[in-house]
Parts: sequence; C-alpha cells; structure tokens
Amino acid sequence: MRRLLQQWERLSRYSLNTRQVLLQLGWMCGLVTLGAVISAVTLILHPEQVLVLHPEQVLASAVLFMSGCLGLAMFWGGWVLLMWTEVRRGRTSRKRSEHVITAIDAIAIGGVLDCEELGNPEMQGALQRLSGEHQKLLRTLEVERMRSSFAQDLAEALDIADTAREVYEIARRAADVRLNSDNFHLIVDHGETALDWEVSTGERACACPSAKRCPALRKGRLMNFSPGGGLARCSQLLQGDTHAICAPVAVAGKSLAIVQANWHEAPSKDAEEACNAMAHALGTRLGVVLSLEEREQQANTDALTGLANRRGMQNLLSDLDEASNPYAVVACDLDHFKKLNDSFGHEVGDRCLCLFAQVLQEVCRASDLACRPGGEEFTLVLPHADQDAAIQVGERIRARLLHASHAAGRPFTVSIGVATTVGGTQSPEGLLEMADRALYAAKEEGRDRVLAWSSDIARLVA
Ligand code: GH3
Ligand code: MG
Ligand code: MG
Repeated sequence: MRRLLQQWERLSRYSLNTRQVLLQLGWMCGLVTLGAVISAVTLILHPEQVLVLHPEQVLASAVLFMSGCLGLAMFWGGWVLLMWTEVRRGRTSRKRSEHVITAIDAIAIGGVLDCEELGNPEMQGALQRLSGEHQKLLRTLEVERMRSSFAQDLAEALDIADTAREVYEIARRAADVRLNSDNFHLIVDHGETALDWEVSTGERACACPSAKRCPALRKGRLMNFSPGGGLARCSQLLQGDTHAICAPVAVAGKSLAIVQANWHEAPSKDAEEACNAMAHALGTRLGVVLSLEEREQQANTDALTGLANRRGMQNLLSDLDEASNPYAVVACDLDHFKKLNDSFGHEVGDRCLCLFAQVLQEVCRASDLACRPGGEEFTLVLPHADQDAAIQVGERIRARLLHASHAAGRPFTVSIGVATTVGGTQSPEGLLEMADRALYAAKEEGRDRVLAWSSDIARLVA
C-alpha cells in the first residue's frame, strides 16, 4: 500500500497534474453514479420486479446496487486520495522551496552550496551552474574594485605631485604595489639624444639608446614581448627569454615616456592592464609637471650662455638663505669689455661672453651655480664655501680664462670680488653688495685680480 501511494505520488508529481486527475476521476465516478441512480430508480418504481423476482433479476439488481456503492466509494476514495496527495505535495514543495531559498542565499553571500537536500537533480545542476557563474562574477567584481581603487589612489597621489622627481617616486611606489615584478623602469624621452631611465629598479630588459629605436615609443602603443610569442620581438631586448611589457606614457597624443616591466616567468593576465593603467595615469601629470619645469627652466635661464639668469640666481640664494645654509658669492666683471666690443664687434663680444660662461662651468662643481645676471657681469654661487675657498675658485677662473681666451685668439681678463656668509649672517642682497664692492676695489687696484670683502675694502669704497 505504502509503495502504491509512493508510486501515486510520483505519478501525480511528474505525469499528471491535479486537473487531469480530477477530470479522469469525474468521468469514472459519473458513469458509476449513473448506474447506481438507474438501479435506485428501478427499485423505487418497480420494487416487485426487483424484490419478488426471478433469480436472474435479483442478481442483476444486486450487481447494479453493488456498482452504485462501488462508484460512490471510488468517488469519495478518489477525492480523499487526491486531497492527501495535494497536502503532501504542498508540504514537499514548501520544504524544497526552503532548500532552494537557502541555496540561493548561500550563493548570494558567496558561501558553499549544499545541493544534497534539493532532491531534484535538474534543480541541483541549475543551482550549481548559478553558483559557478556567481563565483565568477564575484571574482570579476573584486578585480574591478581593486583596479578602480588603485587608479583612484594613484590619481590622488599624482594630483599633489609638483615636480617630475615626485612623479617618478610615485611611479616607483605604484609599481611596487600593482606590478608583480621586481624589474620596473620609467624611461623618459626628454627630447635629447639619449633616453633617461628616471626610475630603474631591478634588472633592465633593454638598453634602448634613443626614442627612435624604441618601437613602443615610436608606435605609441603597448607592446608585450614574450619568448616564443611570435616574430615581432623588440631587437633592443637584452635577453631572449625575458617577458617584457612596454606601455607608452602619452601626453596630448605624443609619447614622452615608457612604463616598462619585465619578468623571468610569464606575468599574470592582469600585467598588461596594470602597465596600461600606470602609463595612463602618469601621462597626464608627467606632461603637466615637465612642461611647468621646462617653462620655469626657460624663465631662469640666460638665452645667450645657457647659465642661470638673475631670476635663477635669486631663487637659489633665497633657497640657501631659507635653509640657513652658508655660501659664498664670486662676482665677476669682464675688463674693458666695451673696448673689446667696439674693436671687434658685438658678435665677437657675444662669443667672448659664451667663452667665459664655459670657463665658469668648467670651474664649478655640481652643487655650484654659475649665473649671468646681466651684461658682462657673472656671479658664481658656492654653497658651503668659506672665503679662502671662494678666493681659490676666483683665481682658478682668472687663470683658466687667460688660457682659454689666448687659445681663442682674443685675450681678455676678468676682475673678481668674493664674499661669504661663513662666520657672519648676511642677507643675499647684503652679500651680493659686499662682493660687488670687493669687485669695484679689484677694478680700482688695476683689474685682472681677485679681492675678498674686508673691512679695508669697506673703508676704501665708502
Ligand atoms: P670695466 O673694465 O670697468 O668693467 O669696463 P667695461 O667696458 O667692461 O664696462 P662698461 O660697463 O663700461 O661696459 C660694459 C659693456 O659690456 C657695454 C656693452 O657693450 C657690453 N655688453 C653688455 N652686454 C652685452 C652683450 O650681451 N653682448 C655684448 N657683445 N656686449 C655686451
Ligand atoms: Mg660692468
Ligand atoms: Mg666690465
């Protein structure tokens, strides 16, 4: 009986729906009930024929009566069975719905899906596929979240970078965070013959000598080189088994740098996107700071000699003054320059000015600054130099000029005055004034000499 009920339940679940079962039962019960009604009517109208009767009539009536009873029993039995099945099915489907909801909840929060309880293999499969898709979507969203948070972080850092140096340092830190490579390089094309490796950590992938030889810079598009990755491999790469990605950093359509990362093993699929994101973010800021620095450089540079002009000199002096760093100034004025100009022409005069600028640069150390504040006057700023050191530098200038101007066929001389903040506290203007007075004294004493500021000079020029 139990098995029969189970079969019935399965049948009603998979094969027939409630309406079909009702229809079938209705037909059956209607026919049987019709038989019972005919029997009952015959009994009422002709009881004598049914009750007093031939044995075959009694048999026929009994059959009809039994059929009626059976029909009614089947009808009600059918209904009871149907109701019982419906209630069971309701319970089972509620239970299954709860399992489905639990499974969907588990999928939604990325948990482990337990399909055992669902029973229905089709539903299990569907939910498992849904769970797989959901996990994939979660991973994609996580990658996107990481990318956009990196891009935002980088953009904020670059926004507050004022100098190219700061931009390079941010690029180095960003590569640490985003690229899974110890070998990162930011190669900048400053428009000179050679490229500059402004950031270089780890091993170099290439030794490209100029922008013209770099395919990524020339073509202005990302290039991904892997060993065995086809014939298009950059000829500048140093090793045949290096994986290298070169992403151009472009500003207003012009490539001015390359973000380059390289690996010994194949990089992750994300590496190209990471290099591109860095190149894109760096481009905008690097373009701005480099053009600002170029303009600043132009504003601080003397066009004829390439030395710092008066503005450049004053900027350096106020920086030194602000930092309370001691320094000396060496003020130079070419002797009888007007006469040289008048005798040989302005062009020769200009060449002599350039020659003297070259002499100053040869005498300078990297930390010193040679300036041409104007005309045939030059100033050398020597950080941390005391008076003796400044006088020595002045003498070296004089000696070298003598040699260089003779070699150039136009001998000329220079008078020099020096002053230093070492041992005293002078403002930049005060120190320049002192050096000028020492220079005036050198002119007065006969030119072509070096004099340092002293109390005697103060009395002499007062
Ligand atoms: P002193 O020995 O006393 O310094 O005499 P000086 O002739 O050098 O000084 P002065 O101030 O009388 O003349 C400076 C000359 O420098 C005048 C000007 O023709 C020349 N000069 C200034 N600027 C330039 C320049 O850019 N190019 C050329 N060729 N000459 C210049
Ligand atoms: Mg002068
Ligand atoms: Mg002069």
